[in-house]
Amino acid sequence: MSTPGPGSRMPALFLAHGNPMNALADNAFTRSLSRLAEQLPRPDAILVVSAHWLTRGTRVLTAPTPRTIHDFGGFPEELYQVQYPAPGAPVHAEAVRTLIPEAVPDSTWGLDHASWAVLRHMWPAADVPVFELSVDIPAHPTVHWKLGRRLAPLRDRGVLVVGSGNIVHSFAGVSWEPDPRPHPWAEEFDVWVADALERRDADALVEYEAAGRIARLAVPTNDHYLPLLYPAAMSFPEDDVTFPFTGIEMASMSMRCVRFG
Ligand code: ZN
Repeated sequence: MSTPGPGSRMPALFLAHGNPMNALADNAFTRSLSRLAEQLPRPDAILVVSAHWLTRGTRVLTAPTPRTIHDFGGFPEELYQVQYPAPGAPVHAEAVRTLIPEAVPDSTWGLDHASWAVLRHMWPAADVPVFELSVDIPAHPTVHWKLGRRLAPLRDRGVLVVGSGNIVHSFAGVSWEPDPRPHPWAEEFDVWVADALERRDADALVEYEAAGRIARLAVPTNDHYLPLLYPAAMSFPEDDVTFPFTGIEMASMSMRCVRFG
């Protein structure tokens, strides 16, 4: 890992997380996360836009020592034992509030599994400060896109912004069989979004419901889709758009990850 020099710009990422058990797994997806982290400049702080922190209005985590939140039920005890004791980033949270003054400071939330399930594969020592931005769940996708645009200056301030969700996320379509075939609609919508990302088609990404039936099946609720709009909106025309990992897990969860810049 290298340290960003003066004037260098951090990439922005969208990371899939999928099944919480990925936090403990050693598989092609988790190894791709480790490789990705090795390629990145070391961030001063990481801001995760979390599919698991859903609020009315936008909130930003200001906790100096965020707790690890186990926000799921019915998993093995080992998963509840995971701690990710990264320091918080209250000074960077204040910088977010200068860009988005309406973001409400919040010191009570912590790091939910949208953060730690991926970050423990990337920075296992938990020595990079982490904070979160909530998803204002009633807001139209356009609102999220505009928030992402306003956060773009963070890329020049050493902050790695990570949207954590899943482009396709349907519990109704989940299969618990080993290596199930993806649903055709899951693959089609995943590729539809990838095409829009490569074309830098902001309108398509925001108005994803225009994709029709495949969008309704792939995004029955948009909590896991909306975090994609933040790094996408923070990308600059000169950024390369690449996919560090692709694939569909459990027949209906896209594990596609996106790197901007
Ligand atoms: Zn999730």
